[in-house]
Amino acid sequence: MEIACLDLEGVLVPEIWINFAKRTGIDELKATTRDIPDYDVLMQQRLRILAQHRLGLPDIQQVIDGMGPLEGAREFLDWLRERFQVIILSDTFYEFAAPLMRQLGHPTLLCHRLSVDENGSVRAYHLRQKDPKRASVRALHSLNFRIIAAGDSYNDTSMLSEADRGILFRPPQNVIDEFPQYPVVHDYETFRQAFCDASERNLIL
Ligand SMILES: [Mg+2]
Repeated sequence: MEIACLDLEGVLVPEIWINFAKRTGIDELKATTRDIPDYDVLMQQRLRILAQHRLGLPDIQQVIDGMGPLEGAREFLDWLRERFQVIILSDTFYEFAAPLMRQLGHPTLLCHRLSVDENGSVRAYHLRQKDPKRASVRALHSLNFRIIAAGDSYNDTSMLSEADRGILFRPPQNVIDEFPQYPVVHDYETFRQAFCDASERNLIL
């Protein structure tokens, strides 16, 4: 029995914070963990900026809704779900991902959550657990599933190493250099083929 575990941002949808910053014109929201390595400091700053601009969750969701999935992502995911049980493992928040999940046909998503008050203001964020992608693959292994995992970035590499097979989708060069053991694909056509190659079943493209 096989399960496909997919990262979300950079694989099926754009990077949410970066695109949100572009669409709202709020440059300060472009900061990532490359600029501020402490994730808690970064998230507190993001929540403060959202409050300063009086952006509540409904406003934020409206902007995110306008992003849409990456071109071809919905078709790829539909193809994959016909052949595998698919679980999306992401470091985003359910409340931010919701508009995009609707456009992807509501696949199963394991991520983090936000606290939102009665006025729609985002008050706090809650991480589900430490190293959640690796922990999720480990848990699925304990249920006797074989795991094929795919992601684009550094925060996916623990998931890839825990999985039986890993695939990198449009990764940055430093990730390719540091993790040469994984096949690299750049479009959904070869991504489909990589899943067929990684599977123990005789899948048809
Ligand atoms: Mg990603």
